[in-house]
Amino acid sequence: MKIAAIQTYILTDKLEDSFYFSQWAYSERNICIVKITSDSGHVGWGEGYGPATIIKAGIEHLSQYIMDLNPLETETIWGVMYRRTLDFSRSGVLVSAMSAIDVALWDLKGRVLDQPVHQLLGGKKRDSIIPYATGMYFNDRDDLSQSLPNEAKRYAELGYKAMKMKVGLGVEQDIEYVKAVRQAIGRDVQLMIDSNHAYNLREAIALAKAVEEYNISWFEEPVSPEYYNQYAELRQKTSIPIAGGECEYLRFGFQRLFQARAVDIAQPDICATGGLTEAKRIATLASVYGVEIVPHTWGTGIALAAAAHFIANLDLLPGRMMAPMALIEYDRTENKLREELTSSDMTFVNGEFTISDKPGLGFDLHEEVLEKYSQVI
Ligand code: MG
Repeated sequence: MKIAAIQTYILTDKLEDSFYFSQWAYSERNICIVKITSDSGHVGWGEGYGPATIIKAGIEHLSQYIMDLNPLETETIWGVMYRRTLDFSRSGVLVSAMSAIDVALWDLKGRVLDQPVHQLLGGKKRDSIIPYATGMYFNDRDDLSQSLPNEAKRYAELGYKAMKMKVGLGVEQDIEYVKAVRQAIGRDVQLMIDSNHAYNLREAIALAKAVEEYNISWFEEPVSPEYYNQYAELRQKTSIPIAGGECEYLRFGFQRLFQARAVDIAQPDICATGGLTEAKRIATLASVYGVEIVPHTWGTGIALAAAAHFIANLDLLPGRMMAPMALIEYDRTENKLREELTSSDMTFVNGEFTISDKPGLGFDLHEEVLEKYSQVI
């Protein structure tokens, strides 16, 4: 079997309501999708996390090295792509391009072999996982002291057992909103906070100490991702678990994070960090250091499905009978691309997702939607 075609698409959708977080505002969604077709006529889909036009260029560049290779040999192809990019890009967007191709190849392999990806990864270790709602971004239209707790309450009423809110507006402001959200949802729903590296160490410590009383399940990207030692120091100064890793690439990046004892929870993004092939290696490495993994997930149903199959296969450590259920990040902000591009039997029932047993990544991709949002450039 051979790879016969690699096509890229940039999908764009203007948002009805823009929103922002500590770093920038979103007024549109942009995503690069890749379609890989084998000479047997099978198709696999992938996506990259990061700037879509650069990822598209990266996929087109990598295509020359992998065309005609056997698409079932995901690890062989990963090695070819890595060797051809190692000298120029040991992290960053070119790795996201590799990730998109790798995810598409796993999807393709599953569809060729008529097996779900979680089985090809080594087996489904759980039938269902808990989606946590990612939302509570900021905007200038609403009174955030009202809208953030209202949004949180809405998720709780829909059955979400966990949710994550943005922080990073300033320590005092954050404390007020975290308190309001916790009051709105009660004690039983898990609540995480994410500053997207808005703070220096002093501010991060101040915020962490002030919100400890609100039972925060993790503080995500408290400081800039380069400052491994600051992560480690913050970990020593707060009882809140520290999470990070969505800006980290390959197992080598995660090794730096783990060696510095920087995080309790590592968050590789499968569509950026090196695809499913590399995410599995990162999970093995994390198990050596005793670090939990909850992937970062953003984008369309392709990224969500890749994360779901990965988490279905993930070893939760330490092993025990009464282990808590595995979490998956589920972005709830406005995104028509996520809503319309794919459909799957991984539905939200009683606060849980049931893992799909359909071949590949288990979704149907609607090519007419691809056309509808494709940008002609
Ligand atoms: Mg984050």
